[in-house]
Amino acid sequence: MLRVFRFLSAFSLALLVLPLSALAQRPTFTVGTATAAAGQKANGYIEVPAGADAATNIPVVVVNGAKAGPVLALVTGAHGTEYVSIIAVEKLIGELDPAQVSGTVILVPLVNVLSFEQKVPHVNPLDNKSMNRFLSGEDGWTQTDRALFMITKEVVDRCDYLIDYHGGDLDESLRPYAYWGAVGKEGQDRISKQMVLAFGLDHIIIWSERPTDPAATRYLDNTASVRGKPSIVVEAGHAGTVETDDVAQLVNGTLSTMRYLKMIPGEPHYIENPVWLAKTVDVVSEGPGIWYPLVKRGTYVQEGMKIGYVTDYFGKVILEARAPAAGVILHVNAVPSLKKGDNIADIGVVAAQAP
Ligand SMILES: [Zn+2]
Repeated sequence: MLRVFRFLSAFSLALLVLPLSALAQRPTFTVGTATAAAGQKANGYIEVPAGADAATNIPVVVVNGAKAGPVLALVTGAHGTEYVSIIAVEKLIGELDPAQVSGTVILVPLVNVLSFEQKVPHVNPLDNKSMNRFLSGEDGWTQTDRALFMITKEVVDRCDYLIDYHGGDLDESLRPYAYWGAVGKEGQDRISKQMVLAFGLDHIIIWSERPTDPAATRYLDNTASVRGKPSIVVEAGHAGTVETDDVAQLVNGTLSTMRYLKMIPGEPHYIENPVWLAKTVDVVSEGPGIWYPLVKRGTYVQEGMKIGYVTDYFGKVILEARAPAAGVILHVNAVPSLKKGDNIADIGVVAAQAP
């Protein structure tokens, strides 16, 4: 109570001392066609020009706070059917009040519009590329490459901090978790670690061995991190569902991280003693067939444990899937369909100690 009172007093004092012009001098902020004056929220599009294939427009919202502060980017929908991650950012678009915000929030609620509209998981259906693999255009630039170039320029280069949102896709039964990728710079790594702890998801993957060349980065948060922006990845939701608890984890986690960054009033809520995961191990299907799981998302398994099996279309077992390592099932194939090379499950291996 005392703390609240002192905060209010300090705040009223600041209002008396600050000339009104100080508020008016906060500059407008523009991303794509969205321009927001200080204390305002604006909608627009990041326009991706036509090239070898069609042009597209990616929706963007700028919440330009009334008070000075950093620029935070919230980007989701690279995989347009990871619905919880999209609905959470949609909710934040409605909830963030520019009058309460210090600094600027750039919200990109749906990078992969065609994936969402056509209900196609994992890729942009126009060119069959993942919109989370940055500048992968060895085979010539298509819409995905141009879109990701524009996001790097308009969002990554403009922000100070970034959160990338994902979740279980249409065919993935996923338990919530986050990624923290250190870059070897003490100050930046300390901030990104505090961001991921403030976000509050209770399983955190320590993401190492990532590209360090800005021209060769993969994934959005890797792209932001090598450019010096502390950033994290968060995942919640599974298999086409939009459950209230999953959405709440992403919304509340974002607000807590914003409190850590001093962009909205209040204290962050840090997760205590999360399960740190040293790495993830994939189980991949060797051929097409029908998948019968024996584990659920979040199950802890021992190395060698049978996690499911695959039959051919006559019911003959053609594969017994076993855990290649002990750990937690981060996600498991949510549907019976399997083709060769599909990811059957991802197992997170618990780290020997917290970083
Ligand atoms: Zn994703």
